[in-house]
Amino acid sequence: MKSIQILIFTDLDGSLLDHNNFEFKEIRDFILKCIKNGIKIIPNTSKTRIEIQVFINQLGQNLPFIVENGAAIHNLDLIHPKVKLNDNQLVFSRPLSEIVDQFKKNIPTDFQKRCVFLKDMTLIEQMKILGLNKKYLALALNRDYSMPLVFDGSKEIVDEFTRHLKKFGMKLHEGGRVYNISDDCSKGKAMKTLIEMLKNELKCKTHTIVVGDSPNDISMLNACDQPCVIPLPNKKNLSYLKDQKIIRATQTAPKGWEEVVRASLKKINIDLEG
Ligand SMILES: [Mg+2]
Repeated sequence: MKSIQILIFTDLDGSLLDHNNFEFKEIRDFILKCIKNGIKIIPNTSKTRIEIQVFINQLGQNLPFIVENGAAIHNLDLIHPKVKLNDNQLVFSRPLSEIVDQFKKNIPTDFQKRCVFLKDMTLIEQMKILGLNKKYLALALNRDYSMPLVFDGSKEIVDEFTRHLKKFGMKLHEGGRVYNISDDCSKGKAMKTLIEMLKNELKCKTHTIVVGDSPNDISMLNACDQPCVIPLPNKKNLSYLKDQKIIRATQTAPKGWEEVVRASLKKINIDLEG
């Protein structure tokens, strides 16, 4: 175990946190046990920095993490003390104001009309869509790099919209509850950059496990050693991913997270007791 650094890049909502109430109490001890055993757990989520900070406080253990669908990595020194960078972070995105300008200037009005941005909705609508109370809603909407929205259109129109965004260096990410428009970044890209950096800094090999539940997790599921998928309640999610390597949980989050992480570790002959 010493010669190989195990990294778990994990989505939060619906993957580690219960899709409906965002709880993870049942697996908190297991997460802490992983960390105690030298495994690095790196949340890689569409959540904002301040939302992840809430999760970290609940866990009671500081972590490195990736925000807003791969826009930035924070707490780099917690991955390896040798990684020394200004502000202890890596940013892959332009500021949100530039993305908004580009969107308004370049994306055809037909598509713009189909976008209902969360920031323009009533408080009641925002709470309903995100499943959050007032306090946590404010943290979710305090975004540095991306715009959450609901899109009105068929899959074909979504695909066309995605192509338009791409032309102007932007991306559409589909999460468990909403879409997000961001700069040309993704969970997978941020993860790959980090792994490359670690391979250069660390003398040992890395083994990456990814846990996800939604289309915005595919870029990281496709780029790791062990992809794991968590089912969503009453929804067939990511069933079209055919990679034989994928471990699929039989339970939803949070229990499903422990299930796939244990199975992934077992495959490389690591058995955490308890
Ligand atoms: Mg999710």
